Amino acid sequence: MRNLRKPIEEVLVSTGRRLRDSWGWAGRAVDSLLFPSYCPICEAETGGPAFCDGCRRELLGASGRTCARCAMPVGPYADRTGGCSECRGVALGFDRAVALGPYQGPIRSLCLSLKHERNAWIGRWLGELIVEGQLDQLRAERIPQAWVVPVPLHWRRRLSRGYNQAEALAVGVGRALELPVKPVLRRVVATPKLALAGRTERAKLMRQAFRAREVPGLKGRTVLLIDDILTTGATCGAAARALKRAGASKVLVVVVARAEGKP
Ligand SMILES: [Zn+2]
Ligand SMILES: [Zn+2]
Repeated sequence: MRNLRKPIEEVLVSTGRRLRDSWGWAGRAVDSLLFPSYCPICEAETGGPAFCDGCRRELLGASGRTCARCAMPVGPYADRTGGCSECRGVALGFDRAVALGPYQGPIRSLCLSLKHERNAWIGRWLGELIVEGQLDQLRAERIPQAWVVPVPLHWRRRLSRGYNQAEALAVGVGRALELPVKPVLRRVVATPKLALAGRTERAKLMRQAFRAREVPGLKGRTVLLIDDILTTGATCGAAARALKRAGASKVLVVVVARAEGKP
């Protein structure tokens, strides 16, 4: 994988510059990152950023056989025609999904660490690792012109948390695939409001939870929609529908973890 293990100074400079050009506010955050020189999983000294070789191999091998539609792990003999037994016939809103692996073990711990801004650097490396692990699947989708779009947080939550982990992941995915990151989605319904609602109202609120800015170039575009965890697919599905309403032709969900949850 080209570019994946650049010296860190180079990564910081080039990513910082590219980000400043495209979306300055995130670029400032990346510029201030300091990378530790130990593996975030086993804490072994690595002499540089990111995972040690052992943990890296484990992460890359975590996925196993999955459903191409919803990224759920499936058995060796499962029929995957039109999806798996969980998602077949269900309108997901997105076209396909890939995950680094199931929401367990080190992948679960990494997702939890990722919620804190001080660990934004892990998001970048995870984004790149997903691409490396799922490259064949992603290539099959012919994505040379795709845009990378992070699932946004509601502005209020983003303000209180200080950052959105999906953005850090998107930077890694965009960098590994040399695709532009375009934060074209806006979250217009906050999560507490969703949590308080009843089931039917929740579904309705979720349908309106995202808006995509109608920017030139989105029409007919394939989008890689980035989030940390895919569970029932309701969030990514709503975000994908908003993108399609604004003209995107195909939405491929890219996440770190696939958690148990029926679509
Ligand atoms: Zn390690
Ligand atoms: Zn499925």
